[in-house]
Amino acid sequence: MSIAVLSVASECAPLVKTGGLADVAGALPAALGAADVDMRVLLPGYPAVIAALERAEVVMAEDDLFGGPARVLDGNAGGLAVMVVEADHLFAREGSIYLGPDGRDWPDNPERFAALSWMAARIGHEGIPGWKPGVVHCHDWQAGLVPDYLAQAGGGAGTLLTIHNIAFNGPFPTDRIDRLRLPRARFTAQGFEYWGHGSALKAGLTLADRITTVSPTYAQELMTPDFGMGLDGVIRERRDVLAGILNGIDEDVWNPATDPLIAPYRTPAGKAANKARLRAETGLPDSDGPLCVVVSRLTGQKGLDLLLAALPRLLARGGQLAVLGSGEPALEDAFRAAAAHPDVAVRIGYDEGLSHRLIAGGDAILVPSRFEPCGLTQLYGLRYGTLPVVALTGGLADTVINASPAAMAKGVATGIQFHPATPEALGAAIDRLCDLWADRKAWARMQKNAMAQPVGWQASARAYAGIYAKIAR
Ligand code: ADP
Repeated sequence: MSIAVLSVASECAPLVKTGGLADVAGALPAALGAADVDMRVLLPGYPAVIAALERAEVVMAEDDLFGGPARVLDGNAGGLAVMVVEADHLFAREGSIYLGPDGRDWPDNPERFAALSWMAARIGHEGIPGWKPGVVHCHDWQAGLVPDYLAQAGGGAGTLLTIHNIAFNGPFPTDRIDRLRLPRARFTAQGFEYWGHGSALKAGLTLADRITTVSPTYAQELMTPDFGMGLDGVIRERRDVLAGILNGIDEDVWNPATDPLIAPYRTPAGKAANKARLRAETGLPDSDGPLCVVVSRLTGQKGLDLLLAALPRLLARGGQLAVLGSGEPALEDAFRAAAAHPDVAVRIGYDEGLSHRLIAGGDAILVPSRFEPCGLTQLYGLRYGTLPVVALTGGLADTVINASPAAMAKGVATGIQFHPATPEALGAAIDRLCDLWADRKAWARMQKNAMAQPVGWQASARAYAGIYAKIAR
């Protein structure tokens, strides 16, 4: 019999996306369908989500959901079975889903996502007509209060909390504890107290039946002070229920043989046409050196300041760089300045089509992250024969086979890993990249390995289904 699962997320592709969480939330329902899981996704009623909603029915209502009335609508959107928390006082806002016009978090973000969690808990407790989840799968801090609210409601579905990025832990000041309908007795180090504040993520970490994160290496890293961001202790305490399950990618959207956004290809040779087009589009001159690409948020996490520091090395070796990204103003400015060099092209912004053209046309994709829970762009790179050059951390450690002498001798390498995340180590990795590039036979072999590596959801969907089966109620 199939297991019914409510997946609770603050973003979900193709409806609303700021990062990899959306890709995962959007891909899981189809991936898990094959594993006999009946998943529906609960989302906040942002304007874009409400606009996309079809065949919706009202299945639940609440008079006062953190300051106003709310309804849960059950329907379809973006090809997914979704439920939407319609609460205009919280979600009917233009602009970013997390940030106000001043570029700072919406001041009521704790209440906005508490509202999402509250309705999720009600669904997990009562169900809706004709459907009752055995499991509520909570994604990140935005769904971190679900286990507390479920306990208050008297229990119901089992809970799984997935950490996509521990850097965001959903802090709230203590004077909001009552307003957030949380029990004061849980404001302790064993509960949701976090350095004098409350934390929605910690609330979930202390109560969820199971915890996962998006790669095995990140699961280990999270138990260390260097990566746990103050939550390593609570995660260590819960290590018995912790697992790392790698993200996959949508193999239909990211398929070089059928991708409508590029000149499709089945073998690495087909990249030549895409590379020529990419050079034409970005104004990069012809060159014999490797064309390196970056598609990323421009934030400290992503280590792109290391790339700026190591860039002269790449250029000195005849390499080129094409960057697509947006984020911190200082990094945006620094990359704009770097583009003064003829072999550097930079596009500041968010552009789905260009991201495909970069990954199809590039020879290598650079991901020098300081930490990376899983990372998706190195997986796109593998599938497109665009060799990943990555920091040895998190999911980057788990998905790339480093071109070590042993791996090269065995003919199994798929990319280059470097450690630690410093300009020197990245510079050395760029040197290795250029040496490999000069050995066309070795390069072609790596491309072939990369394109053959499984990067889809099959194995991970089975792993999630296994956890759901253990905790379903
Ligand atoms: P994170 O979630 O930390 O941003 P991931 O690698 O897990 O990092 O996911 C990032 C996702 O966002 C990928 O699908 C990537 O292609 C996409 N992305 C990031 N920046 C851009 C951009 N400027 N334009 C288009 N897509 C982008």
